[in-house]
Amino acid sequence: MHPLSSRSRVVVNKTMTFWERLYLPAIVGGLWITFRHFFYKKVTIRYPEIKRIFSPVYRGLHVLKRDDLGAERCTACGLCAVACPAEAITIDAAERKPGEEGLYREEKYAAKYEINMLRCIFCGLCEEACPKQAVYLTDRIVPSSFERQDFIWGKEKLVEPVEPEKRVDVSIRHYFQKEA
Ligand code: SF4
Ligand code: SF4
Repeated sequence: MHPLSSRSRVVVNKTMTFWERLYLPAIVGGLWITFRHFFYKKVTIRYPEIKRIFSPVYRGLHVLKRDDLGAERCTACGLCAVACPAEAITIDAAERKPGEEGLYREEKYAAKYEINMLRCIFCGLCEEACPKQAVYLTDRIVPSSFERQDFIWGKEKLVEPVEPEKRVDVSIRHYFQKEA
């Protein structure tokens, strides 16, 4: 049978020298490497007191956007859930009732919209699939928690506030993503 590569490794049964059998030089060498690292520049930071500057195209925690008048943009079409490779999105659709025009932009809306942040891989495909510019990823990160339930983000946490000054700005990331 022919080998799969032309490389061959010669196995040598070399006997250890006196110093190698002592092991002490190897241990001292290892400790010396550890000691040297005390004087290197640290690669870690004191998060959350200190935060790194993220890339402008960083994809983090989602937001469900409202239109200029404050109505929810999402029409519960489900395209984001279909596009999601991690099956992280759960949607329940509902019919808008008379008098709710200010709350929901179209006749159908998402009564339930949940994203499981433990499943999400922050690929951004939900954002690309959305025909209503309703779901976006932002530069925010998902807060840590010891409870699994805290990573199921529903509408109460995903929909941006009505107040214009509290809206979530996604324009910078969107601009750089288009340019990339
Ligand atoms: S970012 Fe990707 S994995 Fe996360 S919810 Fe959207 S489509 Fe699914
Ligand atoms: S976020 Fe967009 S794609 Fe997802 S259900 Fe709502 S309108 Fe459809």
